[in-house]
Amino acid sequence: MAIRASLLPLHLLPSPFLSILPCRSRSRNVSAHSAMGHRGGSSAEAAEAKHVVVCGAGVIGSCTAYFLAQKGVKVTVVEKCGVASAASGKAGGFLALDWCDGSLLKDLARASFDLHETLAEELNGRERYGYRRLDALSLVLEETTGGGVASHSPKLPAWIDGCVKRAAPIGTQKTTAQVHPFLFTQAVLSDAMDKHGVRLLMGNVGGVELEPAEGEGYRVTGVMVDGNFVGADAVVLAMGPWTGTNRLVSDLTTISGIKAHSIVLYPQNPNVISPHALFLQYKTQEGKQLDPEVYPRPSGEVYVCGMSEEVEIPVDSDRVKPRKEAIVMLRRIASTVSSELVNAELRIEQACFLPCSVDGRPLIGGIPNVAGAYVGTGHSCWGILNGPATGSSLAELIVDGVAKTVDLSPFDPARFGQTSHRQKQVAL
Ligand SMILES: Cc1cc2nc3c(=O)[nH]c(=O)nc-3n(C[C@H](O)[C@H](O)[C@H](O)COP(=O)(O)OP(=O)(O)OC[C@H]3O[C@@H](n4cnc5c(N)ncnc54)[C@H](O)[C@@H]3O)c2cc1C
Repeated sequence: MAIRASLLPLHLLPSPFLSILPCRSRSRNVSAHSAMGHRGGSSAEAAEAKHVVVCGAGVIGSCTAYFLAQKGVKVTVVEKCGVASAASGKAGGFLALDWCDGSLLKDLARASFDLHETLAEELNGRERYGYRRLDALSLVLEETTGGGVASHSPKLPAWIDGCVKRAAPIGTQKTTAQVHPFLFTQAVLSDAMDKHGVRLLMGNVGGVELEPAEGEGYRVTGVMVDGNFVGADAVVLAMGPWTGTNRLVSDLTTISGIKAHSIVLYPQNPNVISPHALFLQYKTQEGKQLDPEVYPRPSGEVYVCGMSEEVEIPVDSDRVKPRKEAIVMLRRIASTVSSELVNAELRIEQACFLPCSVDGRPLIGGIPNVAGAYVGTGHSCWGILNGPATGSSLAELIVDGVAKTVDLSPFDPARFGQTSHRQKQVAL
């Protein structure tokens, strides 16, 4: 009989979900074998006639669908609000080869940076989503100090004519790059749809359906989408900060969201803006210390983000609204950085949520004790960078039983152990 790992908060669950099952042993490790039942044959054989449902069409879900489809898997992506309607469409799109070195993200980031280059070739990323290498600078600015562009090296590009106290190069075209995140996510998913038959289903994933597995634990049978059952051999939960509302994940750990704001400006002289990503340590007139970022794009637009805050995550991405004061501050920052941005047209004002895990590491892998259930979330401020290697590794894990692009063990959801909630679920 089916068991539902519902997206409803615990206190709204109907009482049968809380009936108590006898304690079960929980030795299953989904990373050890594939949801496709692959036991040594080719990927194509393993993928044959199998269906994977990917929940969420952000950068993580879209990249996962892309690489699954390349392996011949039948994929349905289910999205509640719109492709890249959340952080994946509103991020900066900055990519760095080595900024995660020294952390457990190192291999994921390096593999992703290289995959971005490959994808840009495959998908014509330079034209379709503004992929380019660029330089990066760290700048210290103070609103109160008049004039005084740093006289020491590096020589600043002419358009950065604000009150810069100090400046230092922190990335070069060998190590840093950018994409337009909304266009990148759209391009990846639309290529998967056009070339590999991936299906996009607009709807709300309300729960993952389970049945008892042979032996012990559970097995995924599908998902409920707007009250309708969609059968699947495997399910990938990639719903950004909303992933934690699914019981399979909330049983294990908490996924939270940090809200951040951004604006997109169009200057009157876009040609004078050079390809330099700017990372600011910014002091306001009132003495407040901020750390906004400024990304010129090949389209001539200039993206500015920052002003993060911890607030409750709305029920869906359509309801994430920017706070007026935060937008005003971002405009003020832009005008301080460059006189070219003072009268720039304000094209977009927006906000979105970074998906965060409790230990700062993403969750990428199988959910313990539930065969066929996978998760990809918690990428915090590096989801656009790390989308490709996350998607590629998850596709390998699901189809081949082992991830080759990157060792996923640092990101294994099983690090959070197993909690008692699943023991309390019962077949209806
Ligand atoms: C201001 C800002 C700037 C950033 N800049 C960068 C950057 O420069 N470089 C970088 O690498 N990263 C950056 N990031 C981080 C990056 O944006 C995120 O890590 C990444 O977008 C997360 O992608 P995701 O697919 O996990 O989640 P999301 O983009 O949140 O996508 C989740 C999707 O799931 C859908 N969904 C939710 N619930 C359901 C449901 N029940 N049913 C169906 N669908 C559902 C949502 O509608 C959404 O489309 C930035 C983030 C912010 C906030």
